[in-house]
Amino acid sequence: MTQPLPLLERAAAVIPNGMYGHQNVVLLPEGMPQFFDRAEGATLWDDQGRSYLDYMCGYGPNLFGYGHKEIDDAYVARMRAGDTMTGPAPVMVELAEAMTAQVSHADWAMFCKNGTDATTMAMMIARRHTGRKTIVLAAGAYHGAAPWCTPLKGGTTPEDRANQIHYIYNDAESLEEAVRKAGSDLAAIFASPIKHDTFVDQELPDPEYARRARELCDEHGALLIVDDVRAGFRIARDCSWASVGVQPDLSSWGKAIANGHPISALLGADKARMAAATIYVTGSYWFSAAPMAAAITTLRLIRETDYLERTIALGDRLRAGLDAVATRHGFGLRQTGPSQLPLIMFHEDEGFGTGYAFCSGLLQRGVYFHPWHNMFISNAMTEADIDLTLQAADDTLRDVRAGPKPGPVEKLQILAQLAAE
Ligand SMILES: *Cc1c(COP(=O)(O)O)cnc(C)c1O
Repeated sequence: MTQPLPLLERAAAVIPNGMYGHQNVVLLPEGMPQFFDRAEGATLWDDQGRSYLDYMCGYGPNLFGYGHKEIDDAYVARMRAGDTMTGPAPVMVELAEAMTAQVSHADWAMFCKNGTDATTMAMMIARRHTGRKTIVLAAGAYHGAAPWCTPLKGGTTPEDRANQIHYIYNDAESLEEAVRKAGSDLAAIFASPIKHDTFVDQELPDPEYARRARELCDEHGALLIVDDVRAGFRIARDCSWASVGVQPDLSSWGKAIANGHPISALLGADKARMAAATIYVTGSYWFSAAPMAAAITTLRLIRETDYLERTIALGDRLRAGLDAVATRHGFGLRQTGPSQLPLIMFHEDEGFGTGYAFCSGLLQRGVYFHPWHNMFISNAMTEADIDLTLQAADDTLRDVRAGPKPGPVEKLQILAQLAAE
C-alpha cells in the first residue's frame, strides 16, 4: 500500500511555492509547521497533532483567545440569521456607532475585509479630499500587499508606486524634508502607530515627531493617516496615537477588531466625510454581518475587561524573564517595542543564526516564536504560560552555544533576491 503524500508535497503540487505571502514557512526556522488543525485559547495544534503556545496570534487577529465563546456565539447566531446578503444587516450601523464611540478622532466608519482594503481606501480618500497625488510614508513600514505598497516588487510597476516619498520613522527632520519635496502636491502622511517593521528593532513613536506630522498636515491641508491595522486596540482602547496625544484624520483597522473574524475598517473625521462619500469602493464580502457581530462583542470586551492591562503585564513578565534567562546563559537580547507586541532579537546576530536556533529550540518545546517579526500577547495567555515559555527558553539556551552563529543565509538570500527584483 502506498503512503499518502505529506501535506507539504501535496501543497507544492497545487499551490505556487507550496504557500505564499507571510504564511510561507520556507523562510522561517527549521521545524516551523506549515499547517494547523485546531486552535483554542492561546494554543495551536499543527496537522500532526503537536501543540504550541502561540505567540503569533494568527499574525495579530487573536486578541482574546482562539475560539472565544462570547465572540464566536455572536458570530454564529448572526451567521445563522443571515450573513452575506443582498444588503447589510442592522449590525453594520451598530458597529459603526460602536467604533466611532470607541475611537476619539472618528466621526464615521467604513468596513471592508483586509487591512490592505482600509489603507488603500485611506490613500484614495486623501487624494480625493485634497485633489493631490503625493503620499509620504515611512521607509520600510508595512501597509499591506496591494501593488502600491507590497514589500516585494515582483509583478508591480514603478508607476504603481509613483507619487510616493519616503521618510525615516521618528525623524521629524526627514519627515519635513519629504513634505518639502511633495511641495504643493501633498495628499497625506501615512504613519505607523509604532515602528513595527520586520528585521529591525521596534520603536515607540516620539511624541514630537507625531505632533510634527499633525502640524505638517494641517499646514498643507493634507490628511494624517495612522495605520492601526496591527497595533489597534493592543496599545490603547482608542487609536494608538491617542497615547501620544495626536489625533489623525483617518485610521485603518483590521486584525484584532473581531478577534479573528474577517473584517477591517477605515475610520475618519468629519473633514474627510465628503471625500469618503464620493469614492467607489466595495467588495462581495464587505457587508457580511457575522464578522460585524463578532466585532461588536470584541469591542464590548475591549471596553469592559482589563485585557489591555493584562496583556501588558504578561508581556512585561515575559520580557523581564527572558532578559534574566539570556543573561544567565551569556546572551544579550534586544527586546523592543511595547511588551505586549514583543520583538525579540539577539545582540550581534545580523545573520539571525542565534535567533533561528532559539526559535527552533522553543518550537521543539511547544512554544511558537518568530525570529524577526513582532509577536503578540493574547489575553488567553496566563502567567503559567509565560513561566512555561521561560523554562523552554532556559532549556533551549542551555543547548545553543553563545557567540556568533552562521545564519540561515540561503533563506535570507531568497528574500533579498525577491526584494531586489
Ligand atoms: C497586516 C497589516 C496590513 C494589511 O492588512 P491585511 O489584512 O493583511 O491586508 C496593513 N498595515 C499593517 C500595519 C499591518 O500590520
